[in-house]
Amino acid sequence: MYINGHYTSGHSTESIPVINPATEEILDEVARGTPEDARDAINAAHAAFQDWKRIPANERAAALHQVATKIREHHDELVRLLTQEEGKPIPENDEELWWVEETFDYYAELARHERGRVIPPGEPGQFNFVIKEPYGVVGCIVPWNYPLLLLAWKMAPALAAGNTVVIKPSELTPLSTLRMVEVACGHLPPGVVNVVTGFGPEAGEPLVTHPDVPVIAFTGSLAVGQHIARLAAPMMKKLHLELGGKDPMVIAPDADLEMAVSGLAYAALINTGQVCTSTERVYVHKKMYSQFSEELADFVDKLRLGNGLDENTDIGPMIRDKFRSKVESQLNEAVAQGASILTGGKRPKKFDRGFFLNPAVVTDVDHSMRLMTEETFGPVIPIMPYKNFDEAIALANDCQYGLGASLMTHDARLVKRFFEEVRAGTIWINDPLTDNFAGPFGGMKMSGLGRELGQEGLDEYFEVKHVHWDVEGGVKEYWYPY
Ligand code: NAD
Repeated sequence: MYINGHYTSGHSTESIPVINPATEEILDEVARGTPEDARDAINAAHAAFQDWKRIPANERAAALHQVATKIREHHDELVRLLTQEEGKPIPENDEELWWVEETFDYYAELARHERGRVIPPGEPGQFNFVIKEPYGVVGCIVPWNYPLLLLAWKMAPALAAGNTVVIKPSELTPLSTLRMVEVACGHLPPGVVNVVTGFGPEAGEPLVTHPDVPVIAFTGSLAVGQHIARLAAPMMKKLHLELGGKDPMVIAPDADLEMAVSGLAYAALINTGQVCTSTERVYVHKKMYSQFSEELADFVDKLRLGNGLDENTDIGPMIRDKFRSKVESQLNEAVAQGASILTGGKRPKKFDRGFFLNPAVVTDVDHSMRLMTEETFGPVIPIMPYKNFDEAIALANDCQYGLGASLMTHDARLVKRFFEEVRAGTIWINDPLTDNFAGPFGGMKMSGLGRELGQEGLDEYFEVKHVHWDVEGGVKEYWYPY
């Protein structure tokens, strides 16, 4: 762990093995952090906050640019480590690291740009302004699927705003986080960045219940997000929750088939379908349903499964066997209810180790199936026909989540209806799953609270204060007596 500028095993007496999902080999072990370790990290971050919040914005910007530069210097090493502990192929981790580096640069600049606004006075003689202030210690609780990216989207704006952080990486992927902090954060004052490894209830929950952690920035499952919200409610903590998704894609009748097939395969199968914004439900106009499904199955059949370190790999393993079993149970249940698997859905015979699953294309599905309503988080593409665009929009909205939604069309009238009527935090037309530093990312409905990236993603880490300053002073006619 990394607490108050030191590497330590803290109070822990046990370790957690970190497993390579492609080989099932133990890569390394990390300390199983305890609630006392979390408290030590919180105390260090709380003490460091007193100075860090006063550092001039230009100095803080330089420190964050240095974080980005140092990560770049270790780019290839971090990409390799991330591939070994998370499993996705090198090109995807290469991109993840690029995003991490750029996120630190982006928020270094954005945060020195402004710190509030001057507003018209509410009373004569007053000077009124709004100041944005950092909260204090931010608890960053991160999942395993994009361990560094989802950390950077919290850590960079939180630090840039003048907060300090305690990071709780996923117990499945703590190594790249520890290494990134080791290579990139040594120049920051002790206590500004801390990492506590371990399981959620032991190392994460103490952040949620401690009074000196006013903000919890969490990305993870809906169930854990709800649990955190319940724990934090009595203290009225600021919660930033990026939760699950069940993103729809609608293929319009005019869509270019080749673009729709390859765009959908990418949107559904990148990171083996283990993306919060993976396309998990597809709606295709009935006139092209059969042809589209067959072409998609042919395309998916040609994708190459393998170890993420192998340059011939398109799709890596799933992170753990229990997540693969959950996908298989959704598939089996759907088949029992009448679904047809056109391809995939089986464990490939060519690997005797690793949590691999052949990507599946499934037809004859409907919303009575768990496969179409519950988050799958695996390599499965279920496709359902629709009769007209009204029905497509109704199906897209028939879901408890509202993270992202995609449409394939060149018909501007359909585009306008789609972005106006579909309830999701991100809408993609013809180019799914792209990000943009300047634009907010996050979910509606049960997909969470708050946004990451953009100005919105910085404002999550500021508390606003309105100052009413009567510069002249004097007794007011609206005071007593009336
Ligand atoms: P998870 O909820 O199991 O764990 C996330 C983190 O929370 C881990 O660090 C875990 O140790 C910690 N945690 C677990 N119990 C805790 C507790 N009681 N108190 C505090 N912390 C606790 O999620 P996961 O399996 O790591 O990630 C997959 C989930 O994340 C999926 O549901 C996916 O949709 C979601 N996700 C969402 C987004 C988004 O931006 N909306 C992005 C990526 C992943």
